[in-house]
Amino acid sequence: MNGEHKITSGHRARTALVYLRQSTLMQVREHTESTMRQYALADTAVALGWAPRDVEVIDRDLGLSGTSAAHRAGFRELMSRVCLGEIGAVIGLEISRLGRSNADLARLAEMARLTGTLLIDSDGVYDLSDFNDWLVLGLKSTMSQAELHIMAGRLQAAKRAAAERGELRAPLPVGLVYDEDSTIATDPDAEVQAAVADIFACFAAAGSAYGVVAAFAGRKFPQRAYGGVWAGQLRWAPLTHHRVLQVLKNPVYAGAYVHGRHATRKTVDADGNVRTVTAEVPRAQWQVLIKDHHPGYISWEEYLAIEARLAANHTGGGARPVREGTALCQGIIICGGCGGPMAANYHGDDRASYECHSHRDGKKTPGCRSITAHAVDDAVATALLQALTPDQVALALAAAGEVTSQHQRAGRAAELALERARYDADRAERAFTQVEPENRLVARTLEARWEAKLAALADAEQALQAACAALPLLPDRASLEKLAADLPALWHAPTTTARDRKRLLRTLIADVTMLPEADRCKARIGIRWHTGAADQIVISRPRPSGVPAPTPSPAAELIRRLGPVTSNADLATLLSQHGYLTGAGRPFDIKAVQWVRHAYHVPGPSQCSDGEISVADAARRLGCSPGVIYYWIETGQLPARRGAGHRLCIPWNETTEARCQARIAASGHLNPAARRTRPRQPH
Ligand SMILES: [Zn+2]
Repeated sequence: MNGEHKITSGHRARTALVYLRQSTLMQVREHTESTMRQYALADTAVALGWAPRDVEVIDRDLGLSGTSAAHRAGFRELMSRVCLGEIGAVIGLEISRLGRSNADLARLAEMARLTGTLLIDSDGVYDLSDFNDWLVLGLKSTMSQAELHIMAGRLQAAKRAAAERGELRAPLPVGLVYDEDSTIATDPDAEVQAAVADIFACFAAAGSAYGVVAAFAGRKFPQRAYGGVWAGQLRWAPLTHHRVLQVLKNPVYAGAYVHGRHATRKTVDADGNVRTVTAEVPRAQWQVLIKDHHPGYISWEEYLAIEARLAANHTGGGARPVREGTALCQGIIICGGCGGPMAANYHGDDRASYECHSHRDGKKTPGCRSITAHAVDDAVATALLQALTPDQVALALAAAGEVTSQHQRAGRAAELALERARYDADRAERAFTQVEPENRLVARTLEARWEAKLAALADAEQALQAACAALPLLPDRASLEKLAADLPALWHAPTTTARDRKRLLRTLIADVTMLPEADRCKARIGIRWHTGAADQIVISRPRPSGVPAPTPSPAAELIRRLGPVTSNADLATLLSQHGYLTGAGRPFDIKAVQWVRHAYHVPGPSQCSDGEISVADAARRLGCSPGVIYYWIETGQLPARRGAGHRLCIPWNETTEARCQARIAASGHLNPAARRTRPRQPH
């Protein structure tokens, strides 16, 4: 061997390590010759003078890619043992392929140089302390890197060229198949076709992927298995949200050939491990896009519309899709003060308001307002209905067409399922009739299978009947046209959901803005139409709930004048006799009078009869606090009774007053002067 003289007895006294590596399990399985050659390296070591017991083989990395040492336990073991200085030589089939990355090999070479370890491959022996060897190894490593790069480049270029012609075969999603001459065609199975087509139809009707899942409740969706034992077979499973998105986002269904829709990139995680992640590439950066490449389920325009719709549904990305609440402008109303979105908040069953939440992030401006939703909604809906006039008929007829096709689709799915069940039953019957009667064991199994298929057929028939019965009667075209002529009635119809109204609103109106308005009793609303036109409407602001309308002044004047001497009940009667109404336009009752009394600070008439005074009066006359009077009453020092409204009435005359004053004068607590003249005596 070339350079055999570099091996000294010192090297031979240490262990010779044979390092085996084969990139993929496929290589290990198919290229057995190479693996054999690698194991034969142990014999080479013996031939070079190592004792057989001093030769060790590391084969833990067979079947692991060499692109990085991160996952290769064998290479790590090799490195650590070289570092310990217990290795005389590392033997591999091709030294530059020991580590696929330059960094791995450079590290090994550096350690081998420091510990005097030889590297040996079929070309010869390298002593890294020799500059020539070190240089040759470095060159080989660089060459191997370049070779890899060029090879990968050639492969990619060939692949890319095939893709650019639209000829690179990729696995097809369910509903599309390759025919004999490798062109893409729709699946000949009508049931599969119908299921895929229904996803697009349901999305058009429901407007969301979750809506499609709901429409498929109880119905299964086909899925083609790739690889594994079921490869190429069709499986039917419940439809998931993820599956719906996969179908809706796949341009292959729009008849387009696409290459480079996903890209992989490498990341380094916190542990220092290199991971490969696959991410979707934005449409503008797809490498190859060939429209009208094969027959699809939808047109390219429909694909773009679905893409836009999905983006508008993506709340995580800042979209504000239509929700089920009654506030019409939810999601499209903007605060004119700060420019931020206004949120629709629901305070009761039906009371919603649009509120600017700018105070939360400290962007509140003096122009930021909140407003009752119905005030804005009424104005916007009126503007919308006025604008809709010329398109009434077209809109209603489009809606009618959609409903009809929806009905047909539901029935068609059941029909197809029935057809399949009938086919399965026929096949089971044929299999049963073809078996020889003597072969009882097999005949019994086949008979049971036939019976099961017949039961399934009966179920499918029932399901079809149920589907036909469940179809509601469609209104005839004449009545639809009549309805369309009266769009406001359609708009306000109880069968029209808030979501429908909002969707209709958004088809014409881009956004609604609460413009700043100096007059607090008015609100100015800006409407921006999708056409680019803009309107401004001024509405009177409804009074916020909880704040009463001011009482008309004649009524307030009467309450103020007669209040101190008249009871609330009498005042209410008096006010209705005069025909006065409250600010809210209702006749006065006791509660309303009480409210006005409170608002205008009108005292009530005294509850006490002649010869009696209230606690407040007594306190005022004696010049003490009401608390003192309450204390005397509670401790029985002052007689009192409970009058109307549970008020305390104190029988009062000059004797009572004199007695009370004497009590105050004697009290050191109430009269500081008394305390000074008569200091407390110790008992
Ligand atoms: Zn604001």
